[in-house]
Amino acid sequence: MEKNQHDLVVIGGGPGGYVAAIRAAQLGLNVACVEKETALGGTCLRIGCIPSKAMLESSEHFWRAREEFGREGIRIANVELDLATMLKRKEQVVTTLTRGVDLLFKKNKITRYLGHGRIEAPGQVTVLAEKETVSVSTKHILVATGSKPATLPGIQMDGDRIGTSTEALAYTEVPKHLVVIGGGYIGVELGSVWRRLGAKVTILEYLDRILFGLDAEIAAEAKKLLEKQGLEFRLGARVTGARVEGDHCKVESEGSEPIQCDRVLVAVGRAPNTEKLGLESLPLELHKKGFIPVNQKFATNVDGIYAIGDVITGPMLAHKAEEEGIAFAEQLLTGFDHVNYDAIAAVVYTQPEIASVGQTEEQLHEAGKEYRKGVCPFRANARARTLGQVEGFIKILADSNTDRILGVHILGAHAGDLINEAAAAISFGASSEDLARTCHVHPTLGEGLREAALAVAGRTINL
Ligand SMILES: Cc1cc2nc3c(=O)[nH]c(=O)nc-3n(C[C@H](O)[C@H](O)[C@H](O)COP(=O)(O)OP(=O)(O)OC[C@H]3O[C@@H](n4cnc5c(N)ncnc54)[C@H](O)[C@@H]3O)c2cc1C
Repeated sequence: MEKNQHDLVVIGGGPGGYVAAIRAAQLGLNVACVEKETALGGTCLRIGCIPSKAMLESSEHFWRAREEFGREGIRIANVELDLATMLKRKEQVVTTLTRGVDLLFKKNKITRYLGHGRIEAPGQVTVLAEKETVSVSTKHILVATGSKPATLPGIQMDGDRIGTSTEALAYTEVPKHLVVIGGGYIGVELGSVWRRLGAKVTILEYLDRILFGLDAEIAAEAKKLLEKQGLEFRLGARVTGARVEGDHCKVESEGSEPIQCDRVLVAVGRAPNTEKLGLESLPLELHKKGFIPVNQKFATNVDGIYAIGDVITGPMLAHKAEEEGIAFAEQLLTGFDHVNYDAIAAVVYTQPEIASVGQTEEQLHEAGKEYRKGVCPFRANARARTLGQVEGFIKILADSNTDRILGVHILGAHAGDLINEAAAAISFGASSEDLARTCHVHPTLGEGLREAALAVAGRTINL
């Protein structure tokens, strides 16, 4: 093939785009990826999942060393925070992983274009780089441009003291008082990081609950545990303004007193990123919230143009974007594959973690579906006792008639790892009895999942 001619051009090198590029190359296509940032990996690797989890891990170690190790007979005198080293480690983790994607591109012979990709017409992409503009021709274009932080009217972001998760992942000093606008997963995760490192943290949430979308019982219990750790929540607070005033920030809201603080994190969700993509010149109408409409094969209504990941509807999660990337490539080359959205789990990496897959009790009530519920508290699990992490519970919801598992919701130690077994069970259409009859290793947290499955049929052993 001639230079700058490809079978597939992927715009966006995040988890959706880079995974789609690799799978399509493995299936024999000549693939290129246009990414405007120097580092590949997208929001997830550069400014999302990975740096936030690195900071969550480090801040938890700090908290445990100060507050909890003594209980196990481990005395550490003068535990001190070296924030610069903590931030450096986070950057090292990010760099190792983003460079890993470069290596994967080389291994799979994927051409990398550095610059802003714009669709000129079906089959034609322009790459606008600092010094030159390159025209690229291709049979197929995949848009995987992800999302960007949303904001609210009246919030005057200064990109420093009033900023998004990107700034909150890199504060060089622990704020005295951090106000987080938004009680979703990004707000509670990053609020937890800075609380553990010593900040006073106030989370303002418009709704009457936190973590909207997760099972309400689990979210309510999680709020209590986070409050015990010192996070302050103000629910029903409609933020009307936030601005820098002299040496402090001021946040105003209906339903809550104005707050003076030294930093504000705006975490009110994310919006699809279609900026300057050239879509306006195509006969392509976006959803009212800006998402690109696609069919089950991820095809838009314009021939040869497809979209996946955060830029289309569905949960804004890295593994959902990856799954769509693989399904897109396989659909294109083999005509098969699909994404089972019922089996896409979500995790909030607080302490303890919160994880969920399938339907919540609220969704089942709304659908008028009859279900049985089995619960196992972590305090009944031997491994949780040995870990000293007995907070929370596992809840399994199964169809009353068929016993098929409809949803699994976990608040507790390593919930994010435990949920994969539940996702596999839902993928295979397992019943709660299938889980209950699977021998689980002792002593593990996974035994709690089995016990919850036994509880669905009212025949627990350890409760
Ligand atoms: C703080 C934070 C924590 C998160 N934690 C988690 C988590 O723990 N687990 C999880 O599953 N998800 C998490 N997410 C969400 C996750 O990062 C996204 O769902 C995921 O990155 C979406 O992947 P994507 O490939 O669709 O888009 P993105 O990762 O956003 O990648 C899109 C890429 O396209 C590039 N781009 C955009 N426009 C153009 C253009 N015109 N030309 C060239 N390049 C372009 C961007 O630079 C970017 O690199 C988190 C997000 C944030 C912000």
